[in-house]
Amino acid sequence: MAPIAFIHRLSVAEQRQWLALLQQLLPNQVILLPEMMSAEQVQATTVAIVANPNPADLVPFSNLLWVQSVWAGVEGLVSALQDRRATQAAGQGAIKLVRLTDPQLAQTMAEAVLAWTLYLHRNMPEYAAQQARKQWSPLPCAVASEVHVAVLGAGELGVSAIRSLLQHGYKVSCWSRSAKHLEGVTCYHGLTQLPKLLQSVDILVNLLPLTVETEGLLNASLLKQLPRGAKLINFSRGAVINATDLIKLLDSGHIGHAVLDVFTSEPLVATSPLWTHPKISILPHISAPTNVDSAARIVAANIAVYQNTGVIPPTVNLERGY
Ligand code: NAP
Repeated sequence: MAPIAFIHRLSVAEQRQWLALLQQLLPNQVILLPEMMSAEQVQATTVAIVANPNPADLVPFSNLLWVQSVWAGVEGLVSALQDRRATQAAGQGAIKLVRLTDPQLAQTMAEAVLAWTLYLHRNMPEYAAQQARKQWSPLPCAVASEVHVAVLGAGELGVSAIRSLLQHGYKVSCWSRSAKHLEGVTCYHGLTQLPKLLQSVDILVNLLPLTVETEGLLNASLLKQLPRGAKLINFSRGAVINATDLIKLLDSGHIGHAVLDVFTSEPLVATSPLWTHPKISILPHISAPTNVDSAARIVAANIAVYQNTGVIPPTVNLERGY
């Protein structure tokens, strides 16, 4: 039987945890690291499970039919598979990419969005700065129903975040590529509707995937359309925001504060001015880490269905980039 490849850039401990759990959940499959495989096994492999892999490590697997990512964000794999498709022989089928969609991940992200929205809404950065100055100054605090939180991206994670914001009483709107109808939410879609959304936002939450269209989308010209003092949370990918423009707008006071969990290059280099900016809160890409237990069960179920029926789960649209 052809083995399943497990291709990763994890620590040894994480790799062992994944392999042990997957092997336990898929007792009839052989799951191997590339370095354990013979050349024949590499050629015979049609399915790979990948954990933030170096895309180059997929190259020797020339007969892959589909790849299951254990991460939700897959922009690196998308561009590697686009390149591979451009160079493969005519008639050869394109590799399909399945990303992780996990209700546990969506709930974890919803918690993070709610936690940091509350942090900004309840003026925590300002109080931390006041404490450092031993200053006792109560600040005005709007009720949640008067705070407009806009979520960019209304997919798996965006909708989960929106639900938790609604439960908490916030005034919520969202923006996506296609039209949406979500109860209690003002939904906007497409670039032409974006200015209308931005004009009244108090807290802007970015949950857009990184694609050719979203890279650098949150630049000075877009961020200037927010009301003065609006705050920003970026939990998707660093490159969606132009960090140089963001720093200028924080310095001018146009943006009140930014919570950043993701960066163009990670870990964030020690020399980055983002670290020490007084109006930036830095998080080390922790807003929604993959839960190995729930994710491994979803991945194993996807593979079991495929082995039994030949059906590949819903795949990433490589043209669209997400
Ligand atoms: P998803 O289900 O694919 O949803 C993406 C949403 O973005 C959709 O609503 C989509 O619109 C919208 N969108 C994409 N391109 C757009 C464009 N050009 N204009 C307007 N809207 C656009 O993705 P997800 O599962 O919610 O994940 C979102 C991102 O979160 C991932 O890509 C990843 O980068 C990030 N993430 C971060 C962490 C972390 O710990 N920081 C963890 C997991 C994931 P349509 O609905 O119309 O298609």
